[in-house]
Amino acid sequence: DTVLEIKNLKVSASGKEILKGINLTVKSGEIHALMGPNGAGKSTLGEALIGHPNYEITDGNIIINGRDVTHSTPEERARQGLFLAFQSPISIPGVKISTFLRTAYNDLYPDEKLPLRDFFNMVKTAMKDLDMDESFISRSVNDGFSGGERKRFEVLQMVILKPKIVILDEIDSGLDVDALKLVSSEIKKLHDSNVGFLIITHYQRILKDIIPEFVHVLRDGKIVLNGGKEISDKIEQEGFEWIEA
Ligand code: ADP
Ligand code: MG
Ligand code: MG
Repeated sequence: DTVLEIKNLKVSASGKEILKGINLTVKSGEIHALMGPNGAGKSTLGEALIGHPNYEITDGNIIINGRDVTHSTPEERARQGLFLAFQSPISIPGVKISTFLRTAYNDLYPDEKLPLRDFFNMVKTAMKDLDMDESFISRSVNDGFSGGERKRFEVLQMVILKPKIVILDEIDSGLDVDALKLVSSEIKKLHDSNVGFLIITHYQRILKDIIPEFVHVLRDGKIVLNGGKEISDKIEQEGFEWIEA
């Protein structure tokens, strides 16, 4: 099993404190939802957890299986099993999806020496499951992709790279109903194989398919409420206003 522990995490960007002491533990097989109004700091938490250089951790710790990764490289965190699907994935013109996935996979599993053919068969199967055209594989990463295609490509990476703890940042935004179903089905498969999830979402749409065991509400850089699905249900009815900051 894998355990991600976030302890009193404080994060600044451009010299301004955004996260003001976050405590949260996500274990294999658990589904957590992190909700909160726009600007609460949800994406900042995801980015800080995977080690984005724009976000400075000023206090607290990120611990994976007892190992402190607070100041580790993104690659090292990935090797410990952490994966983030970005809210706004960036394009990398000139880098093909095939190369990108193969490089990331080999970095994570250097000893596996999966033959190229087997690797690409695995990729093709996953693309089919996500209703992505095979021609995507020779396109540049996110270059000219629609919002929905970017989100599907994030999910494709998740499926191929086999992380232990997954953070999904607004994965449902920009997906139509059919695409959302495919994405939810991939999330469920991974959950069945004991992956732990932190699902960041402004709306409760994806939480109709993926029922969270734990719901946390972030407001002004602090978790102000912890509970179960009753919280996301109430947020659907009443928004965030009833929750005191
Ligand atoms: P959410 O995902 O909950 O909508 P964000 O984490 O994107 O919130 O943003 C939280 C706050 O931090 C916002 O006020 C935002 O403007 C600010 N912020 C986020 N990233 C940066 C950055 N790189 N530099 C400066 N401020 C930032
Ligand atoms: Mg936002
Ligand atoms: Mg966000």
